[in-house]
Amino acid sequence: MPDMTPIKNPMPLLDMALRQTSFNEVAQGYDEETARREARRCLRCKNKPCVAGCPVQVAIPEFISAIACGNDAEAYDIIRETNALPAICGRVCPQEMQCERRCVRGIKGEPVAIGRLERYAADTAILSDGDAAPDALKQSEAQPRTSSEEPQVASCKAATAHIETGKKTVKAAVIGSGPAGLSGAGTLARLGFDVAIFEALHEPGGVLTYGIPEFRLPKALVKREIDSLRSLGVRIETNTVVGKSITIDDLREDGYAAFLIGTGAGLPSFLRIPGESLNGVYTANEFLTRINLMKAYMFPDADTPIRVGKKTAVFGGGNVAMDAARCALRMGADVSLVYRRGRDEMPARAEEIEHAQEEGVRFELLTNPIEFLADDSGTVRAARCVRMELGTPDASGRRKPRAIEGSEFELACDTAVIAIGNSPNPVFVKSVPELARTAWGGIDADPQTGKTNLPGVYAAGDAVTGAATVILAMGAGRRAAQEIVLEYNNSL
Ligand code: FAD
Ligand code: SF4
Ligand code: SF4
Repeated sequence: MPDMTPIKNPMPLLDMALRQTSFNEVAQGYDEETARREARRCLRCKNKPCVAGCPVQVAIPEFISAIACGNDAEAYDIIRETNALPAICGRVCPQEMQCERRCVRGIKGEPVAIGRLERYAADTAILSDGDAAPDALKQSEAQPRTSSEEPQVASCKAATAHIETGKKTVKAAVIGSGPAGLSGAGTLARLGFDVAIFEALHEPGGVLTYGIPEFRLPKALVKREIDSLRSLGVRIETNTVVGKSITIDDLREDGYAAFLIGTGAGLPSFLRIPGESLNGVYTANEFLTRINLMKAYMFPDADTPIRVGKKTAVFGGGNVAMDAARCALRMGADVSLVYRRGRDEMPARAEEIEHAQEEGVRFELLTNPIEFLADDSGTVRAARCVRMELGTPDASGRRKPRAIEGSEFELACDTAVIAIGNSPNPVFVKSVPELARTAWGGIDADPQTGKTNLPGVYAAGDAVTGAATVILAMGAGRRAAQEIVLEYNNSL
């Protein structure tokens, strides 16, 4: 008999004092007993509506049923059939918009906590693998990794048996190491391709590494996934901007025949208001990269400082804005989050909004900045803002905000972080002018296959869709890789 408790089993959270001052992971994960109890809330619906809500169609009732029966390893195997990164997706997927939104238990109560159960299965598998537990992984993050801990790429490479696709092994270049590139590279390597990933930054992982903070996604988990790719023989060339340090033609000359572009959407949008270039005004990309990738939160142990003043204002209402606000809070600032619509319209994950508010981020809703004001040294001292009201729905279906006349006021801030959206990274596409692009700057690729107008060139993830989600990018990377395999198996 299913457990008919109408609400989800709560997620244990880190102690609030630590949440406000440290980068330790906030959501602690279900223990065994809680996971079994939550799994018993699933009705095992025959028509599986939840599966239709998952972009990679994880076999949800089957994996949950395995957890309910105590078969955690089986649950993990079931999830891994369609989702290569369950420990990551279980933590960051916007489940309330995807699988859980379709769960029938949500009609008269709360849906089954599918994401939490997915994370439980993945974390349990990591533990039983003999690897470090997530807690220990978190602590290891307190120390920057030393070069002696780098994986032994050469020996892994030698041990890799490439399946011959016809007479020769095809060399595939993956450009960008975010979820799209990582999942595409994994699929290609497993199917016998000789794969190299080229990454502009000094660490692989894309947004998983430089954007989403440690307190939501321990970097040790991302590193573990990347190491497992390396053990499949995938080479990762960091500090390599394709289109600048090397070109696609150089790669062709080097024998690469297939290309998967996963360059993401890391180009920040600006408010385009006076004062945006003042000292103390950051884009969220720079702010988060300094804190997460360059470990500014560990300064002076890590060597990148960041100036987070006493009063930080973050502008935006998505995941990026929540992450920036929660990072600033942990760096000791008093934080306001300024969003031009209401809380219900915020695109961030529900859990991130809740956590930000619980931790003390103050929400200035229905508020829009119109100018940044400087002090005598040219540093931001305030944002002049105007109050908004919601009018009729716009093209996206959301009610359009409009300014209320005479409602202007100054919001004091010595740091401002702009988090109002990102568009596709332009460097690579500019270097290949013959590659078809959309009107808004994305790569024009078939959404199902990733095929572009150039032979042998595929694209996936945010570079194609614009800023989206981890699971969508992963699913697209995998599908594009499968298409590459089909193309080369047919042509050899
Ligand atoms: P990315 O992750 O952006 O990776 C692209 C990679 O390509 C980067 O490493 C970049 O350096 C590299 N690159 C770019 N140009 C070149 C070049 N010319 N040569 C070599 N390398 C290049 N999604 C969720 O589902 N849940 C969340 O909670 C969530 N939170 C987010 C928080 C933040 C702060 C941000 C920014 C995004 C968040 N997202 C979230 C969105 C999600 O992370 C992205 O949709 C996803 O990472 C896209 O994957 P991708 O592989 O397409 O691109
Ligand atoms: Fe839900 Fe994401 Fe897991 Fe799919 S991958 S079942 S959407 S948590
Ligand atoms: Fe279980 Fe909900 Fe899916 Fe039904 S819809 S099978 S209750 S998770």
